[in-house]
Amino acid sequence: MNFLHSKYAHLIPYTPGEQPKESDFIKLNTNESPYEPAPSVMEAVKTGARTLNRYSDTAARIVVEPLAKQLGVKAEQVILGNGSDEILSFIFQAFTEKGMSFPDVTYGFYQIYCDMYQAQANIVPLKEDFRLDLAAYDELEGTVIIANPNAPTGLLLSCEEIAAFLKRHPNRLLVVDEAYIDFGGKSMVGSVDQFENLLVVGTFSKSRQLAGARLGYAVGNTQLIENLNRIKYSVNPYNINAMTQAAGAAVLAEQEYVEQCINETIQVREWSTQQLKQRGFEMTDSYCNFLFAKHPKLAGEALFEALREQKILVRWFNQPRTKDYLRISIGTKEQMERLMEAVDQILEGANQ
Ligand SMILES: *Cc1c(COP(=O)(O)O)cnc(C)c1O
Repeated sequence: MNFLHSKYAHLIPYTPGEQPKESDFIKLNTNESPYEPAPSVMEAVKTGARTLNRYSDTAARIVVEPLAKQLGVKAEQVILGNGSDEILSFIFQAFTEKGMSFPDVTYGFYQIYCDMYQAQANIVPLKEDFRLDLAAYDELEGTVIIANPNAPTGLLLSCEEIAAFLKRHPNRLLVVDEAYIDFGGKSMVGSVDQFENLLVVGTFSKSRQLAGARLGYAVGNTQLIENLNRIKYSVNPYNINAMTQAAGAAVLAEQEYVEQCINETIQVREWSTQQLKQRGFEMTDSYCNFLFAKHPKLAGEALFEALREQKILVRWFNQPRTKDYLRISIGTKEQMERLMEAVDQILEGANQ
């Protein structure tokens, strides 16, 4: 007897990147920050733990207020999620009555949430070179979601192109998932007052050292945020636990440390790009904390496996358009040096 509701019979859940038990792996597979949180953040978590006997603040004001200030919006224009994945799940529940459109090569969860919430998915192929053209969405109906910069391609769309789409389609919602915006892009957050049809999603996982704490957010006009709160308060009002709230507030008070880590990641990304190009790799122009790279002589899967044997984890997506590529998160300089040594060994082996 299978007790599962039949509507989930064909649901294919997300496959997370491997989180190995042994710590001798170099993890370049899930786009986390390779740097620890600032010491004050770890201290704050201890303080947060003191209130674990109480339910957490449903509005998470100790995070929402400074975050709103940092983003230049009002607190009523922000909602927090247990990771931006939860925010995305609220968005797909709330705003997909007329379907959801997104690129063929993008964050895997968009398709899964469409399946999960029975939303019509309109999949729009990226151009040959993986560029995204919003004009390709003009003739469709309903909501559009894009990751900007996109994952796993790393490519960035300009704010001007996004604003032009918002102007052309005042009756369609555009969700911009800015998980990687801090690594070189310009955020659309500053435009949420200008466009009622713009919802921006962000996360503390990639550029703020809190992947394991699970903290994400959406920013938009107050009505959009009210709509999302309607879903949140119908599913899980206490969605951000006390320790995560404390960690989030502490991170927002550590902007200088956060920016140092971002700058370091950008520098290591540029160094790694050069190093991989010298070794014959081809890659997109990444604005993220990862590279999307392929080698003309090595199949994506073979390179993934060979690196894994050397205890280096990267991400390989077994999809027709991306199977030649690896998505390589930017680690510390030392970790990337290890990667280059491993690549040299593998290339030597392939040339023999
Ligand atoms: C990592 C990622 C997310 C999810 O991040 P959370 O850890 O759930 O906040 C959302 N969108 C994109 C494009 C991502 O790469």
